[in-house]
Amino acid sequence: MSKPTPRIGRVEEISSTANPRIKSIKGLAAKKNRDREGLFVAEGQKLVTDALEKNWTVRTLLYSRQAVQDTKLQSAVEALAAQVRSRGGDVLITNNKLLTSITRKDNPQAVVAVMQQMQTPLERIKAAGNQCWVALDRVRDPGNLGTIIRTADALGAQGVILVGESTDPFALESVRATMGSLFHIKLVRTDEIQFIEFCDDWKKQGGSVTGTHLKGAVDHREIDYAQGPQIVLMGNEQSGLSDALAGACSSLALIAMDGAADSLNLAVATGIMLFEARRHQLRIGNDIT
Ligand code: SAM
Repeated sequence: MSKPTPRIGRVEEISSTANPRIKSIKGLAAKKNRDREGLFVAEGQKLVTDALEKNWTVRTLLYSRQAVQDTKLQSAVEALAAQVRSRGGDVLITNNKLLTSITRKDNPQAVVAVMQQMQTPLERIKAAGNQCWVALDRVRDPGNLGTIIRTADALGAQGVILVGESTDPFALESVRATMGSLFHIKLVRTDEIQFIEFCDDWKKQGGSVTGTHLKGAVDHREIDYAQGPQIVLMGNEQSGLSDALAGACSSLALIAMDGAADSLNLAVATGIMLFEARRHQLRIGNDIT
């Protein structure tokens, strides 16, 4: 039997914010619509290029004709548009005002895309090698989440596991803060009970779960993260790590502080932990044997 011919996306010029396609894209600002459609909005030529490279599906690419001409991006954006169309996505040629109405930013990027959400099921993750995962207990702030995704990518972590009721990684603010790293790491969502079972299996397979806690008993620099695959588990911005999750950890680490601050910002604390864990795992630095 012959294969069906792949769909080539359509090109349309739209200038009215009242256009029904634009209205439904604007609707993706609301989480309930993103969840229902399984879609989200990402801005910028770099993000869309990264997404295509990693085989994320772009449903619709929008660009402002004027912005693309002004920024001399014309040929690059046309090449991007051709790639999107060849994979079945549509291209909408539009204007700055309309892109502003979607991204709610005065100086919108010249390119905006509507993409299909992708996540990895928790069951797919097996403890192996020198893997490092970040798990976040009920993360609330989209800027923190985006920054943590970017940091996890920069340090070569496998991905980010969202435990419990969390902010949406596909919200515009979070996607923006990832600077494209969303497309380079794995994203997992789970609840507390499933995650605790998962941690038990992870430890049976030789992995460690290092929780971070203001009452942590171990200085974070004293832990040997090179002993196998790692999960670095971070607490909620307001209430810290839940007791149940703290109980699932192999150890609870404290990042020593010297000033008057009660605690570090979640994304900063995650960066410090990940840097230390990856320094061991990748054997960077003379003091690691
Ligand atoms: N009031 C919260 C508490 O009592 O835990 C503060 C939470 S803090 C803003 C957010 C998360 O960052 C913490 O749950 C912990 O995972 C991590 N964190 C921040 N500062 C830390 C430190 N000095 N040592 C260990 N973890 C820290």
